[in-house]
Amino acid sequence: MVKAIVGANWGDEGKGKITDLLAETSDVVIRFQGGANAGHTIINDYGRFALHILPSGTFYPHVTNIIGNGVALDAVKLVKELKDITAQGVPQPNLIVSERCQLLLPYHILQDTYEEERLAGQAFGSTKSGIAPFYSDKYAKIGIQVCDLFDEDLLRRKLSHALEIKNVLFEHLYHKPALKVDDLMGELLEARELLRPFVGDAVGFVHQALKDNKTILLEGQLGAMKDPDLGIVPMTTSSHTLAGFGCVGAAVPPTALQEVICVTKAYSSCVGSQTEPFVSEVTGDAGDELRRRGGDKGEFGATTGRPRRVGWFDTVATKYGCMVQGATNVALTCLDVLGYLDEIPVCVGYEIDGKVTDVFPTTPSLVKAKPVFETLPGWKCDIRGETDYAKLPQAARNYVDFLEVHIGHPIGIVSTGPRRTDIAYRR
Ligand code: GDP
Repeated sequence: MVKAIVGANWGDEGKGKITDLLAETSDVVIRFQGGANAGHTIINDYGRFALHILPSGTFYPHVTNIIGNGVALDAVKLVKELKDITAQGVPQPNLIVSERCQLLLPYHILQDTYEEERLAGQAFGSTKSGIAPFYSDKYAKIGIQVCDLFDEDLLRRKLSHALEIKNVLFEHLYHKPALKVDDLMGELLEARELLRPFVGDAVGFVHQALKDNKTILLEGQLGAMKDPDLGIVPMTTSSHTLAGFGCVGAAVPPTALQEVICVTKAYSSCVGSQTEPFVSEVTGDAGDELRRRGGDKGEFGATTGRPRRVGWFDTVATKYGCMVQGATNVALTCLDVLGYLDEIPVCVGYEIDGKVTDVFPTTPSLVKAKPVFETLPGWKCDIRGETDYAKLPQAARNYVDFLEVHIGHPIGIVSTGPRRTDIAYRR
């Protein structure tokens, strides 16, 4: 049985918590895309963790965690994250790094940084983690797979080939020093030793697990709006954030994927460039208050610390997000955050060139969209930690019903606080 946990929106929907929760009853958790550029926040008995690259099953000794072939693997960051969690008392996780995974290398980070500098005001707001150059290289077929580390001649040849191209860019476009193959070889051989204990045949492992009827969770990073095909192009990430890609990035057959749990927050938040269209955005004092009260420690990036832009719930974007993810169940997080409001606006339509629509448009129309809000009564009390859905205030349940009707997908899980136990099953 394979389940995917993915985001309906711009990321930071609270997927980490939901994955952590479902990992408890799973055998395998697989990260299938992205790199260390975003983070999941998990709060459990060991403490509060921001995981950037490790799968969310990391805290359970019975779970095998896999870094799938679709991930951009920054070996240095992976090893640092492992050291950090074990230093906080977490037992060494069971981890397999797919031998087919490709490596995010120092020159990807340099290229990302130089390109953002070059673009200056028009920059995409990249986290400068090297993700876009990494995936460009993968599709240009000059990437380096983990398995290549174990054949030094091959590694040197591949590296020399990649550097021929990189150095032209570095010296002539960015006016920066060229990189030397020998220096990089040294770094990569060090990375190989760090990775060696974890590298394995993840594809074979996953297919055997399927034969053995194991429960497998695919863990997505970011959300549908950030998908490079179906998201807000070009303000996307560079890997596919959709559950459908989980089958590729985790090496699971598409027919094995049975459940898609799409996570969305009871309000919206968006990281990245200020120029990105974010229709239901709340600014000013109301925005500051929502940002301060959001999540478990305010809406600030788990990796970058950047303040996230915040907005009211957007049913147009979320309906589309759930649709393209193929949601079979929706998890609504952070409902508790809205308890301070007398009234809660919900964006139910976009006005574009004088016409109102509830169909999420392509970017040239999206930039023109103005929000159409409906306002619902707030519940004005603290519901944090409530686990019995029936005990939630009527106004809170009405809010959930309203969102469900507008997004057209069933909301089965409601999260009422950041801890694993703060969860109310609706049906
Ligand atoms: P992810 O990338 O989708 O895993 O999301 P993040 O972990 O970056 O952001 C979600 C934030 O919301 C984190 O700070 C979580 O601890 C927090 N969080 C998750 N669910 C809830 C909830 O139901 N209520 C509150 N107050 N915070 C939550």
